[in-house]
Amino acid sequence: MRLAPSNTDAELARRFRTRIAVHIRRHAETLDTDARQRLLAQFTPDARELESVAGFDDDPLHEEDADIHPFADVIHKYRAKILYLATDECPVYCRYCTRKRKTLLSNGHAATPLAAIVAYLRAHTEVCEVIFSGGDPLMLPARDLFHRAGEFASVASIRFIRLHSRAVTTAPQLLNERWFNACREFQKAHATIQLALVLHVNTAAELSFEAIQKIKLLKEMNISLYAQSVLLAGINDNAAILSELCVQLVRHGVQPYYLHQLDRVTGSAHFEVPDANARGIYNELKNLIPAYMLPRFVRDSKQGKFSM
Ligand code: SF4
Repeated sequence: MRLAPSNTDAELARRFRTRIAVHIRRHAETLDTDARQRLLAQFTPDARELESVAGFDDDPLHEEDADIHPFADVIHKYRAKILYLATDECPVYCRYCTRKRKTLLSNGHAATPLAAIVAYLRAHTEVCEVIFSGGDPLMLPARDLFHRAGEFASVASIRFIRLHSRAVTTAPQLLNERWFNACREFQKAHATIQLALVLHVNTAAELSFEAIQKIKLLKEMNISLYAQSVLLAGINDNAAILSELCVQLVRHGVQPYYLHQLDRVTGSAHFEVPDANARGIYNELKNLIPAYMLPRFVRDSKQGKFSM
């Protein structure tokens, strides 16, 4: 049974959180109609999210399974790295978010004491990298973010700290002077730790002037910059759009890293590009850009990433 429009809006609002950062709203107004729609549709509630589709659920990667989930906010899926879910907050809520159970469906979660995670890292010396994700770690106050990073960096086996963030393009003002000062202090105190930041970005139109300025500053700080994107129907399921994204990223010093096939999370079926079409688009992309600009096209799973 389909709900009447007003009931649909109420049900969407009841089920999923919505947030579209002011920067994105303003930036969208500067784009042509097509680019604006492709940008805003990623964050705008849609009645199709209420459809229940077989094979789609709240935890498509089984991250809540106890064998890879030592704490409420830590996932230890790969031997050498842990994913630290530092917050449930984001500047935007992507309607296809893999971790929708923590973001669009969040009621907040109690943070695990840092000391417990540090003790876990000391006991698991095979772990050399901590990835801050969430939610978006740039939503944390800068001092808090780098304090936590410093605690993890103090473990002898940790060599890399990585931030997964959508904020560089959706809320670049979060990367303010305070943020860069806190980052500089962290780098001074932990000179042997390599910092990396992986931008989540799906179209070149998301690279606003402000975002590009912040990318330049991050580069000047010797932070390794990578990008990951999700292949989304109606947004970037087109080799020309993807090639423009890769070219613009490389032009600004960001290495395209992964292109993800959609994780089958509740309410996102309308974003899915069937595998055969998706492979066709990727093959076309290969012919449009040099190989060093090409992200790896993957599907994620509890067992890890598989090439598509
Ligand atoms: S910014 Fe990332 S964590 Fe936040 S809703 Fe989008 S995909 Fe999910």
